[in-house]
Amino acid sequence: MADTLSPRPLRRRRLAILVAALAAVTALACWGAYRWAEAGARAALTLNGDQRLGLYASSIRNAVGRYDYLPFLVARDHEVLDLLDAPSTLGRDAVNRRLETANAAAGSAALYVVDRGGLALASSNWADPAQSFVGQRYDFRPYFRQAVETGSGRYFGIGVTTGLPGYFLSHAVRRGEALIGVAVVKIDLEPIQRDWAAGGERVLVTDENGIVFLSSHADWKYRALRQLPDAVTARLAQTRQYDRSDLTPLGLHDGPLMENGARLVGLPASGPTRRAYLMQELALPEFGWTIRFLSDLEPVKAEAAGAAVLTAMGILLLAAAAALGWQRRQTLRLQHEARVTLERRVEERTAELLTANRILREAQEELVQAGKLAALGQMSAALAHEINQPLAAIRTFVASTRLLAERGETAMVRDNLAMISDLAERMALLSGHLKEFARKGPARVEAVPVARAMDRALALLASRLREEEVQVDRSIPPDARVRGDAVRLEQVFVNLLRNAVDAMEGGEERRLTLTAGRNGEGWEIRIRDTGTGIAEAHQFQLFDPFFTTKEVGQGLGLGLSLSYGIVRDFGGTLRAENNPDGGACFVVQLPEAQ
Ligand code: ADP
Repeated sequence: MADTLSPRPLRRRRLAILVAALAAVTALACWGAYRWAEAGARAALTLNGDQRLGLYASSIRNAVGRYDYLPFLVARDHEVLDLLDAPSTLGRDAVNRRLETANAAAGSAALYVVDRGGLALASSNWADPAQSFVGQRYDFRPYFRQAVETGSGRYFGIGVTTGLPGYFLSHAVRRGEALIGVAVVKIDLEPIQRDWAAGGERVLVTDENGIVFLSSHADWKYRALRQLPDAVTARLAQTRQYDRSDLTPLGLHDGPLMENGARLVGLPASGPTRRAYLMQELALPEFGWTIRFLSDLEPVKAEAAGAAVLTAMGILLLAAAAALGWQRRQTLRLQHEARVTLERRVEERTAELLTANRILREAQEELVQAGKLAALGQMSAALAHEINQPLAAIRTFVASTRLLAERGETAMVRDNLAMISDLAERMALLSGHLKEFARKGPARVEAVPVARAMDRALALLASRLREEEVQVDRSIPPDARVRGDAVRLEQVFVNLLRNAVDAMEGGEERRLTLTAGRNGEGWEIRIRDTGTGIAEAHQFQLFDPFFTTKEVGQGLGLGLSLSYGIVRDFGGTLRAENNPDGGACFVVQLPEAQ
């Protein structure tokens, strides 16, 4: 009972729980898909980053390695040794030219020779007064000190004279054991950076202090990756490594360390926002540098978000499909229920109809009965006439017979008595008709041999047939047996035969043809005459009660109506037709008796 009272809130609650569960599952799956796609994309990024780092390292090593030999070679040049031993204008000019030629051939930025005190004596760029190193002091430069102390040096810095950045390789020049000067080559690393920038990637190279000095992005250059300690700042000012650059920190924000040594970092983008990158590093120990490669994480996020959205869509699609399936099942169930209900209703209605039909039939029988009673009144007039006539005649005959009997005229008396008997018989026949008409309900059913019923009917009419000199042709097979009541079937035949004889009365040819033949499930009995035939106007009235074309006193119009009813009671039919060569034919169709 409670279930039928509260199905809506219950169903709604179940639906809410289902939706909540679906949302939870979707969220979880989306989160999982996001993390999974993110990890996958990041792994791909890391792999790519590793490869790029390797490539950049070798490009730097190549760029520098190409010139490794130059200071060494210059340090062994006789003219250079001579110049450093005993500086002279002539010697300097010769060395200048030699260095210029060598520098042009090697493709380095500058090639120069510094004396023991750090003064540049000759340089490849001697001819350009604005750029020339000749006469400049480089004793404060670390590469000079390194060469003096260890024999060779390497150093990245911004040129004090030119203001252009470069990588300096130095080598001590010795005469015997004695140091007499330092040979230096300056290498321009700008071209490599230009390649990087063209590639659209984010690369930066930092020195041991964490200062960016090479980068694919110009605005990152000469900036500290992180805040520099004061001591470092002071030392840099002294060596003028990055000349007058202020080394503002990049504002790198360190995130968590990921797998494979990669780190999530943030770099200021436009305004206060940071952009997330995956930062990978590769140390170049021989230079004391570190190459860093930054991969933009936005595409990774987008890819992960795409995966999450796809997952959500997939789940929702599945859910929709499931809902559709459920709804379809529900519809089928409802349809099934509706069909069952319909079938039950049809059964109920059929039963009701059957009952109604029975009631109707009963009512109809009542009506027929009532109709018969109504017809009774109509019949009375004809009946009065029909009975009064023979009665009057009988009375007259009786009176005259009495006279004749008194007179002793026996023969006349016998004749009169025969007449009276005839009249009485006619009245009896009439009353028989009426009795039959008043009968109610079907007669008993038996197997009736058609030939015998016909014989009896003919016997009943024998005198009439003889009187009218009617020729009778009979051809009824002995096995023709129909379902019916023998007496009543005889009555039908009598009616039909008498009508036929009536129709032939006074005709030229008076012949009755009686046949019976199989027709479908039963027998067709034909009673054919050579009489007047049936007028077209009467065709549809023949079987109506009290329809007659005969004179008053001759017919009641009940014969065919009664016969029709009897035949129908036996499950048969009665119909009338005209013969092509004149006369009528009445056809009785009756089911065969088993
Ligand atoms: P009744 O014989 O008392 O007139 P029936 O119902 O037997 O009543 O017949 C009705 C009418 O059908 C007859 O009056 C007659 O006009 C017509 N009829 C019946 N049988 C034949 C027939 N064999 N040939 C022509 N007319 C017929």
